[in-house]
Amino acid sequence: MSNDTNKRIHKLDDSVINKIAAGEIIIQPANALKEMLENSIDAKSTNIEIIVKEGGLKLLQITDNGTGINKDDLPLLCERFTTSKLNKFEDLETIETYGFRGEALSSISHISKLSVITKTKDSNLAYKAYYMNGQLSNSSFKSSTIDIEPKPIAGRDGTQIIVEDLFYNLPSRFKGLKSKSDEFAKIIDIVGRYAVHTQHVGFSCKKFGDPLHQLNTRTGLPLKERIRIVYGSNIANELLDIEFSDELLNQDLGLLKVSGAITNANYNNKKKIQPIIFINHRLVNCDPLKRAINSIFQYFLPKGSHPFFYISLQIKTENLDVNIHPTKREVRFLNEEEIIELIVGKIHTILSSVDTSRKFKTQTIINKRNSYELDEEKIEEFKNQPLKKYRQENKLVRVDATQSKINPFLVKPESLNDFKFTEKNSTSTQEQSQRQQSQQQGLQFPDDILLTTQSQSQIEINPSRTQVDVNLDSIRSLKQELSEYVDKSITNIFNHAIFIGIIDPLKRLCCFQYDVKLFLCDYASILLEFYYQLGLNEFNNFGEIEFDEPISLIDILKPIYDLNSDELIPMDQVINNIASMKEMYKEYFQIYIDDNENLITIPMILKNLKPDFKKLPFFIYRLGTKINYKNEKQCLNGILRQIALFYLPEPFNEDDMLPHEFETKRSELENQLENLLFPELKKQFLATKILQRDLIQIADLPGLYKVFERC
Ligand code: ADP
Ligand code: MG
Repeated sequence: MSNDTNKRIHKLDDSVINKIAAGEIIIQPANALKEMLENSIDAKSTNIEIIVKEGGLKLLQITDNGTGINKDDLPLLCERFTTSKLNKFEDLETIETYGFRGEALSSISHISKLSVITKTKDSNLAYKAYYMNGQLSNSSFKSSTIDIEPKPIAGRDGTQIIVEDLFYNLPSRFKGLKSKSDEFAKIIDIVGRYAVHTQHVGFSCKKFGDPLHQLNTRTGLPLKERIRIVYGSNIANELLDIEFSDELLNQDLGLLKVSGAITNANYNNKKKIQPIIFINHRLVNCDPLKRAINSIFQYFLPKGSHPFFYISLQIKTENLDVNIHPTKREVRFLNEEEIIELIVGKIHTILSSVDTSRKFKTQTIINKRNSYELDEEKIEEFKNQPLKKYRQENKLVRVDATQSKINPFLVKPESLNDFKFTEKNSTSTQEQSQRQQSQQQGLQFPDDILLTTQSQSQIEINPSRTQVDVNLDSIRSLKQELSEYVDKSITNIFNHAIFIGIIDPLKRLCCFQYDVKLFLCDYASILLEFYYQLGLNEFNNFGEIEFDEPISLIDILKPIYDLNSDELIPMDQVINNIASMKEMYKEYFQIYIDDNENLITIPMILKNLKPDFKKLPFFIYRLGTKINYKNEKQCLNGILRQIALFYLPEPFNEDDMLPHEFETKRSELENQLENLLFPELKKQFLATKILQRDLIQIADLPGLYKVFERC
């Protein structure tokens, strides 16, 4: 008979249902803590203290200074589905608090001994109440109807929730947990994440009986400082802010705000730190966003390295479905893909313009706008809208008088009389042969020709952008290839290098210190690779250098043909080759050639860095002869290499110039290497394996000290 009833369908006992439900929500102490933290934040607290004993299994106590709970609400507090935050189902659409299901405290009270001390502002007294299985109980946690009324006691405004003996009645769950220290680590992790996100609340967390806090943040600390306290200076020192302009948000995607911080490309950690993602102030997983961001970082970090990032999104509440997971760990939102793409695009821009954002700290901030403008372009891309072009003439910047003018050089080709232009296949050998020839023939390009022009500069740096429509696959693949050739140990050397001086400007050798070692390096080949990488990173995002008057390609190329026309490819062919790719040059490289084949702008790969304008004819000639326009990847790669070459400082020789000229030129270059280029190498250079041959260790300082000691 009893067997029969057992097999019949019957309704489960409420206490069994509640225990099962509780077990779904509270799997480990950190889950209970998260719920209580959220309740405290919902209650407008500005300070939250947490005390933990035995990984939270013995005691989890959380004290806040929030609104407190009305005495009359205490009997209901731990009943399932009791909440002060939601009335009707439709309210879910606009819910802005963490909690709303009214399940957390009820659940916890089914699997622990829970007590609450709370005081609202309006009440003179605090009240203490004890709970078992969702109901008020007496102080010894025995089910009883006697002596269960909340007791008045003295206390401060706010609420203290005390959870003791978690899982005491779920022995299998209790045994299934990891060690107490693991559970404590998870608790600290959760508190840390909330501490990073919640600026208006100070958090502290410590073990019971321990005088020292494991974590302690004050109310109102800036984001960077909160991250420093929780994750340490290694991360805090390498952070880049994420900020979205209003235009970016105005995309009808329901995205209201994006903020946060990411580590830059200098930070490469072997240990994975779980990213922090908050959506509408809920700590969530959002795996698709996490994956997308991680994959963007793989272009900027060496293999096996991990970034840290914290992203907080605010999405129109009606677009957000918070009710898909009992612990609210997962959320869904409308336009998820588009929003993720937008964020990833922004992060890509931030990472690739890391030099821009840093170097502009002490300079004009106009160029900073570039990244915003590019983002707008990116959004357009995402939305697949038709190509739109604009320039912002009002953003033209006149540079200082040290900028040289191209025209005088072009109108005085006689200075190049002896020049012979020969071609080799590889650009670096071509560079070399050019160098050798110029040496052999005593050729020099005296700077005074260029500098004796008007005091007013003729070149304008234009930070505006043209709207582009880019297929980045080939660039992505070039970045991928680059990352495969990176040599970590040489990269590390450059990331810590301190420039010492130029050793030989003709051979282009300089000296720098790394750790206790002294290195000699061929700065030409290092810079050639570095400029190429800058180009790759800035691709489609270059600044512009604009000539005040358009210069016709014919005029630019003429000096080369004046010198030696036999071995050269006919000029109209060269110009045709370039002109047929005008659109691409303009959109991807900010090389703007007008309808009359006049050159208007050239790309600026690094603020404060000028190309060697004497090389402009060769730069243009090579663009017309060296680039394989039939293959997208080879074409983009080739152009980036040519731009790098264009920017590379020329060798110069003491014998070819007056002593003071030589000294000025040398100290100018030294200054640039020390104050601009080496700091940039430090920040963002990825040394490739082949550069090994361009680097020699000439001494290590302990060795030198020994030598000196003997003297
Ligand atoms: P929910 O947060 O989903 O509403 P909970 O079970 O977490 O459900 O909490 C039930 C109710 O108890 C809340 O709606 C809130 O009114 C009250 N409450 C819980 N914790 C606090 C607290 N620290 N301060 C003030 N009120 C609280
Ligand atoms: Mg809650």
